[in-house]
Amino acid sequence: MEKGLILWFTGLSGAGKTTISKVVAEKLKQRGQKVEILDGDIVRENLSKGLTFSKEDRDINIRRIGFVAHLLSRNGVVAITAAISPYKAIRNEIREMYDNFIEVYINAPLEVCEQRDVKGLYAKARSGEIKNFTGIDDPYEPPDNPEITCCTDQESLDESVAHVISSLEKYGYLT
Ligand code: ADP
Repeated sequence: MEKGLILWFTGLSGAGKTTISKVVAEKLKQRGQKVEILDGDIVRENLSKGLTFSKEDRDINIRRIGFVAHLLSRNGVVAITAAISPYKAIRNEIREMYDNFIEVYINAPLEVCEQRDVKGLYAKARSGEIKNFTGIDDPYEPPDNPEITCCTDQESLDESVAHVISSLEKYGYLT
């Protein structure tokens, strides 16, 4: 592939963004593609260290991720972003600004994500220990027309990964 992509994962905490992005990255690498993952949790420890979860700081965080994804993708890398990115407007801003933007909605009902509680954060949000937690006391705005949707409460990990890869093939991004 000459040109890279921005593969923009969005979804609630625990929906499966990190898990799916890692396996998709491996599959793409096996096909000889250069790949980088910008994982939300890791970005917040580095590029966006010190930012809060206010609307303003969330937007700054997402713009930074978008910018770095753009730098990578224009150099032939598939930049996979795996951050909640709860606000529709800012995701659409990134979509308008940069080429080859593909939105991947990692969809699982809040109840399922909360049941999984991979990082124990939903329990903390429910008890009030952490504030502004997406889905609990902060909004999540699902995409209207994502290029790809994975319903991780209905699919196995392998099925979700296969769906992402086959969709990229269908859109002509993979040969
Ligand atoms: P996120 O990055 O969106 O916060 P994680 O990837 O950390 O979410 O956690 C998702 C959890 O859901 C993992 O424990 C994973 O094993 C589980 N899971 C169940 N089905 C799927 C699926 N189809 N795709 C991805 N994850 C799944």
